[in-house]
Amino acid sequence: MTSLSPLLKQATPVIVDHAEGSWVHGTDGRAYLDFTTGIGVTSTGHCHPRVVEAARAQVGSIIHAQYTTLMHRPLLELTEKLGEVLPAGLDSVFYANSGSEAVEASIRLARMATGKPNIIAFHGGFHGRTVAAASLTSAGTKFRSGFSPLMGGVHFAPFPYAFRYGWDEDTAVDFALRELDYVLQTVSSVADTAAFIIEPVLGDGGYLPTPPRFLDGIRERADRHGILFIIDEVQAGVGRTGKFWGHQYSAATPDIIITAKGLASGFPISAIAASTELMSKGWAGSQGGTYGGNAVAAAAAVATLDVVRDEGLVDNARVRGEQLGAALKALQPEFPQMGDVRGLGLMQAVEFTTAAGEPDAAAALAVQQAAIDQDLLLLTCGGFGNVVRIVPALVVTADEVEQGVQRFAAALKVGLG
Ligand code: PMP
Repeated sequence: MTSLSPLLKQATPVIVDHAEGSWVHGTDGRAYLDFTTGIGVTSTGHCHPRVVEAARAQVGSIIHAQYTTLMHRPLLELTEKLGEVLPAGLDSVFYANSGSEAVEASIRLARMATGKPNIIAFHGGFHGRTVAAASLTSAGTKFRSGFSPLMGGVHFAPFPYAFRYGWDEDTAVDFALRELDYVLQTVSSVADTAAFIIEPVLGDGGYLPTPPRFLDGIRERADRHGILFIIDEVQAGVGRTGKFWGHQYSAATPDIIITAKGLASGFPISAIAASTELMSKGWAGSQGGTYGGNAVAAAAAVATLDVVRDEGLVDNARVRGEQLGAALKALQPEFPQMGDVRGLGLMQAVEFTTAAGEPDAAAALAVQQAAIDQDLLLLTCGGFGNVVRIVPALVVTADEVEQGVQRFAAALKVGLG
């Protein structure tokens, strides 16, 4: 009998029968509160009626047009709608299917536009699993080890991970900016560096918001040295952080932005945007692909952007995120293993540590597993695997957050008991 590969690491044993909003109904007859959202993908909740309707209607007219062969209406509409939310000046877009592909495309674009080879990424970043994207990833050796040699020309600089260093945020940012200058001085010269790439909130690397002053510092260096700034909004974008883009907590803007996950509520599509001037430095045909910008996915993305706007989901993410963060912090005195509680909007996390302050991956896993018995679905993350991330749909209600926190508290009791 054929079975799924052991190379896949299954976070829960749940088999889905159907799902709606924040709820997943298992074939076991149980209703699970889904605070994983397919790793931050089902932004408008599972099977939002407007997304379902848009996809259903599109399937009946054209499913696949291959967008460099035939243009189709959903993609034109999506491109126009993205224009309403993209940072100023980023007026040129192309599409792929996944976050990793978008990351790869952004690297090709940056190298092509600058004629320079190197990319500087930051410790703890996650940018995907394809070879180029994995080469930029340092959220854990499991994403790299055994696959070498990865793509060359990638260098890493420290991320201002204040909690791990035991520093305040300003000290961590000062340190990381000094080290970034040192990398430019000693490892990857300005003349060789095409781009910096960073997430606005480290995702798989531990749900660590990137301090606004760090983003500003990278932007300033990018301007000073003629280096491009790529912001990877694959997980943090489309309202998840309580702003439309996660980087909007800072004044810094990217030269290239990439988005995926929440963009189409579960349909695979990613977008890469930059200025027309930057895009014009490459040649026609240098980007593209068979499935990118699929018509059904594009129609779902249009519906998603409409729902995000019409239902005020960016504000909801901010308000419900504040509720969730405050409720989690209130649990800390009772559970000292909750070393750090942090997040932006509906990217909230608990970092578990031992009494000695060391990363405690066993505690994170025990809580995540105990939560399943409470009918609450969660994920772990972090370079040490000691972080539980809480990723509700942007439509989550105050009552669902409250229920989630109660179930989380019960899981803490059992898991840490
Ligand atoms: N970038 C970021 C910030 C991500 O969180 C992810 C996925 N976790 C990726 C890139 C890769 O996306 P995908 O899995 O769709 O290839």
